Amino acid sequence: MTEALYFLDCYLKEFEATVEKVTDDRFVVLDRTAFYPESGGQPSDTGKIVRQSDRAEFDILYAGKFNGEISHEIAGENISDGLEAGDRVKGFIDWDRRYRNMRMHTATHVIANVIEKEAGAQITGNQLGLDQSRVDFSLEIFDREKFAEYERIANELISRKIPVNLYLISHKEAKEKLSRLTTLAKGFSDEIEEVRIVEIEGVTIEACGGTHVKNTEEIKGIKITKLQNKGKSNRRMYFTLIN
Ligand SMILES: [Zn+2]
Repeated sequence: MTEALYFLDCYLKEFEATVEKVTDDRFVVLDRTAFYPESGGQPSDTGKIVRQSDRAEFDILYAGKFNGEISHEIAGENISDGLEAGDRVKGFIDWDRRYRNMRMHTATHVIANVIEKEAGAQITGNQLGLDQSRVDFSLEIFDREKFAEYERIANELISRKIPVNLYLISHKEAKEKLSRLTTLAKGFSDEIEEVRIVEIEGVTIEACGGTHVKNTEEIKGIKITKLQNKGKSNRRMYFTLIN
């Protein structure tokens, strides 16, 4: 199992690791990584790994998690250039992309929580994007007028500079304590002994494996860009970050 360095330190931009295996000349598994693998609606990190022996650089265009292993896909074809098990490498995350995902992700927790509390909506899915993100929810009466108010409440919470805490608790404890293991927590299975909790102090506490900012002030603010009716009580909301 790859040690996931992003799990408790979302601000780690560089790391050292050892190659465990390379398959098809392009998929690299390391013993540890700070690359976030696509999951739970959050896109994969991109970046590069550098072989320490000769400084050869490999652009990473995707990271995915398969059976507990995080696989890094090298850009292009047949370009692993002899990279092999045992090689020491240094990894570098594309920080601008990751940090924007962290802000988007944490913003999703805030706005999702507001529409749950204020409108009684039930969140059914989410997908983060660099330009805009999407939240799907179930809501009987869809009063679009009210969403300006939900946006205002979310921005008011964001501006309060609320700490965002990450920690691990046992899966058993999570099931007992948390009334909701949300859709943002996709990817957790019963075999996992510890669950990563994200707590926006006094606002929401959820199980979630994504990357988050340390304080809501880093989000700066959000703007709802589109509301859609997807039939029955299925609704969709798009939002973006203001700057
Ligand atoms: Zn999260």
